[in-house]
Order: sequence, then structure tokens, then C-alpha cells
Amino acid sequence: MGFDAHPPADGLLIDLDGTLWEDGKLIAGAGEAIDALRTAGIPFRFLTNTTRKPRSTLVAELAGLGIETSTYECFTAPAAAAIWLGRRGVGRVSLLIAEASFEDFSGFELDDETPEAVVIGDLGRGWTFDALDRAFRAVIAGADLIALQKNRYWKTAGRLSLDAGPFVAALEYATGKQATLVGKPSRELFHTMAAELDLPPERVAMVGDDIEADVEGARAANLQAVAVRTGKYRPADEKWAREAATTVIDSLAGLPAWLRLG
Ligand SMILES: [Mg+2]
Repeated sequence: MGFDAHPPADGLLIDLDGTLWEDGKLIAGAGEAIDALRTAGIPFRFLTNTTRKPRSTLVAELAGLGIETSTYECFTAPAAAAIWLGRRGVGRVSLLIAEASFEDFSGFELDDETPEAVVIGDLGRGWTFDALDRAFRAVIAGADLIALQKNRYWKTAGRLSLDAGPFVAALEYATGKQATLVGKPSRELFHTMAAELDLPPERVAMVGDDIEADVEGARAANLQAVAVRTGKYRPADEKWAREAATTVIDSLAGLPAWLRLG
């Protein structure tokens, strides 16, 4: 027997870090849960906020853990931004992001002088006055300002370092425009991903360990949310998780049961 009742969701978005894997290893039972989704024909996308890895790298890392997938099933903030821009009919972009993520924008024409959108991500030491100045002129001339993330700082090589956020803020300040944030928990992202699955938001469930970015973000965008007690989850979060999520399960291994897969 397949379904013994209509499943509570028709499509899934699955977080990677702390949900599918932890410390380079699959969460126990996660591989079997993914197999069960495939057997039942339930569509899903892996969705991570990472901005420093292209989709092809994630596919290779998943293959190393025994999960066969392809780039169309793996979404990062850059990949989601590319989909979002494509759906808006944008063709010319200026990319101020890590070189490794350029491949996620292979369908666009690169244009630093008259782009329709400026995409800001992890440029690290690549930030220069000229790069910011060019982005400023493009945005004030009408280009969309897209931010893959807006973190203030991060830790690298043992010390704190400026992340993309301060540069996004500088451009917002100079142009008087708000950047569109496309990573989790952005509403834009969750709606883009539901459209990717060809489903209304309320028929899609986000599964994740981050109550703020995964669970509350998805719920605010009208999706369902399944919180897992792995990764970032702490017992002190239980009440918060129960209030915020559609359901709370011990780990991804419990997903087939929630979906009532036989
Ligand atoms: Mg996570």
C-alpha cells in the first residue's frame, strides 16, 4: 500500500546542514528517508543558505555520502537568486559574488556597466572602491539590488572579518533603495522554491533545524514547516519549535511517517 491517506504535503524543501548531514556524515536514517521520497514520487529540493559553494559542489558532496542527485535538485542562495531573476525576465547581471558561484548564473549576460540587476554576495578581498562605485551607479540608474545574504561579519582564519552585509548596507545607504534578500528566511526565496516545485506554497513543507531561518521563514511565507531535533536544535528550543512548526520530528528519518508513506 502506498498512501493510506492524502499526505500532509505534496512537495518538500530540505535543509542540508544539521538536517540531512552533520559534521560531514549523514544523519542516521536520512538516506532511507530520501529513498522513501523518491519511491513515493514526492518532489523535493535541497535548500541551503550557503553562498560559497556552487550547486555542482553540493551534488559531489551528496554523492560522496551515497545520495544521488543533480544540480536541479540542489538550491543555494545564488542558485535561487538566478531562478528569481530569470522569472522576472532579467537578462543582464553584474555579479559581485564568489567566483565559484558564477556557474550558477551561466544563463545570464554579464554586464557591469548597464546591468538590470546587481547581485551581491561573498566578494571578500575582491571589494574595491571601483566595484562598489560601479554597483552604486547601476542601482541608481534602475538596476535591482539583490543580496545573497546580509551577514555583518564572519570568522575566517581565526579572526572576525567583514561579510557581505556592510557592502549591501553601503549601497542601500547611497542609493536609498532596499536590497532584495534571496536566502532563507526570505519570503521571495520560499515562494520561488514553491514555484520551482509547481505547487502552491501551502502544499510545500520546509524541513530544517533552524527555527528562525527554516521554520519561521517558511511559515511566514505560508508554507508548512517540519522542525527536526538535530543540528542546531537544543532541548530548550522545544516549546519554540512546537509553536512555530507544523510538526516537530526527531530527525529526517521521521519524515516518511509524517507523510504517511507506506
Ligand atoms: Mg541547517
